[in-house]
Amino acid sequence: MTDPTAPLVDVRGLEKAFGDNHVLRGIDFTVDAGTTTVLLGPSGSGKTTILRSLNVLETPDSGTVRIGDVEVDFATLPARGKAAREQTARLRAQSGMVFQSHNLFPHKTVLENVIEGPVQVQKRPREEAIADALELLDQVGLIEKAGQHPFQLSGGQQQRVGIARALALKPKVVLFDEPTSALDPELVGEVLSVIKDLASEGWTTIIVTHEIRFAEQVADQALFLDGGVVVERGTCAQVIGDPQEERTRQFLRRIL
Ligand code: ADP
Repeated sequence: MTDPTAPLVDVRGLEKAFGDNHVLRGIDFTVDAGTTTVLLGPSGSGKTTILRSLNVLETPDSGTVRIGDVEVDFATLPARGKAAREQTARLRAQSGMVFQSHNLFPHKTVLENVIEGPVQVQKRPREEAIADALELLDQVGLIEKAGQHPFQLSGGQQQRVGIARALALKPKVVLFDEPTSALDPELVGEVLSVIKDLASEGWTTIIVTHEIRFAEQVADQALFLDGGVVVERGTCAQVIGDPQEERTRQFLRRIL
């Protein structure tokens, strides 16, 4: 068993190249249970690749990722085979990903979308999955939409269903990849408000976002990335309010 006082997420020495493009150059950070971490930085700095590595949608070239008591050392992970598949599947199951756009199944109702993972992937009893899903839909303010189809919902409502769907898998950590960047400006607030509620309910979240003011409101920890390295890491008051590095200051000047 892992030490209960240890961080929930521990990332060490993460490296990833796409061909000649060395995107992650030794990423280290930890995330404590029940906290919110934001990943900030210019486009192309590797933020999404970090999230996708945690969920093993990308396979890092080396480094270790531990979530809870599941750890994978990518340097020693075989390229293929049953053992590799089992290890990556166990790590992937520790986190739930919310994408820029929701990827809901268009022909299924909202409720069916939310129970799909628990029933099909986790083989949980359908009745139990439905009861949980209704509770989650209530939490994201969409209980009355349970029987509707995605096309009947606004973009913000669809994204909130996407959040309920990620939570339905009961992940240890929820990963948000620019969850509001595909939305019309007037729909951003409702999605950020749901994410804020999750943070106050004790979910552990890691969020890639350009919404700096939102980050300041919700995040316990901020990482500023540039060129595939963590340039600064600390509280928002430190990283956003009092950045120590010129690269961080330049970035903040551009977007604030
Ligand atoms: P950010 O989220 O900070 O904008 P990304 O992690 O999306 O950065 O991308 C970092 C770099 O990796 C970019 O140069 C991007 O073009 C490249 N990249 C990301 N995913 C892939 C991929 N699947 N294949 C090739 N290059 C990729």
